[in-house]
Amino acid sequence: MTVVVATTNQYKLVEIRRILAGVPFAIDAISDHVDIAAPAETGTTFAENARLKALHYAAAVPHLTVAEDSGLEIDRLNGAPGIHSARFPGATYQDKFDRIYTQLHARGVHSSPARFVCAVALVKSREVVFEATGTIEGEIAETPSGAGGFGYDPIFFYQPYGCTLAELTAERKATVSHRGKAFNLLRTFLLERATT
Ligand code: IMP
Repeated sequence: MTVVVATTNQYKLVEIRRILAGVPFAIDAISDHVDIAAPAETGTTFAENARLKALHYAAAVPHLTVAEDSGLEIDRLNGAPGIHSARFPGATYQDKFDRIYTQLHARGVHSSPARFVCAVALVKSREVVFEATGTIEGEIAETPSGAGGFGYDPIFFYQPYGCTLAELTAERKATVSHRGKAFNLLRTFLLERATT
């Protein structure tokens, strides 16, 4: 059996494949099956966007299809960039970081509590059959640091390890990350499903 991972983000795909390694399903990328446009992310929550992406791509393939929606919530910025993380203004992530620091400084702070959120939805035969959400709590680092990971990892400081997510190996990030938590719940679901 096959699970199609409906993402065009290669970094996410690598992380998801690593977390799901060992489940008795082939883990395919959507690009291995069809070439269709991504849906507009019109949901108002991570969970809604995960569901709409999973349903959109599942309509094009005869397999279990999983999608995720994720992003960074910064408390002192009222939860921004949140579900708009990928579309937050800035041609590069450094530009996005600069914008975040400018907005924090305008509020008189250099840091803020923050979290990454990852919502997952699995679709079978056009129906959502599993959903989960994972989060990781941290804070915005005063300056970006590290070259690993992707996206906002260099500005996300994780206190228990005393470094940013961009300073962790991919294995270590997966043990604590929002994506690791959400996809480990999916992993359990798939393992139970495989034996029933
Ligand atoms: P979307 O789920 O495709 O709408 O985009 C999620 C966006 O959130 C990514 O493009 C990144 O900007 C950000 N993001 C989500 N997960 C991570 C992560 O693990 N590290 C860093 N940035 C992330």
